[in-house]
Amino acid sequence: MTTVEKRLIADRDATLELIASLSGDWDGVVRGSAYANVDDEHDPEGATIAYERARIEASLARARENLADIEDALRRLRDGTYGVCERCEKPIGEGRLEARPTARTCITCASA
Ligand SMILES: [Zn+2]
Repeated sequence: MTTVEKRLIADRDATLELIASLSGDWDGVVRGSAYANVDDEHDPEGATIAYERARIEASLARARENLADIEDALRRLRDGTYGVCERCEKPIGEGRLEARPTARTCITCASA
């Protein structure tokens, strides 16, 4: 297994754990609000729950996006297209892959 593959798999595991933990938080908030029967508009606790929900939802969305990027990078590793720019089909710089192992485009295309 290559270094980058190991790193991507470790990242994927960490992201899956994060998603599981965020989903647990989410369930807690949902259960809490169901039992509390709060009015989101006027109850200060309702506002906190709404805020918590929004925060967890945003973190979950980010984590899922991240997971999709990682899965995609792993698929490209298997296909042999990893490290090749999606747009110009030139190799992506090593430094860029080091900083962003899930990069799909070279620095030139990414900044274009
Ligand atoms: Zn490119």
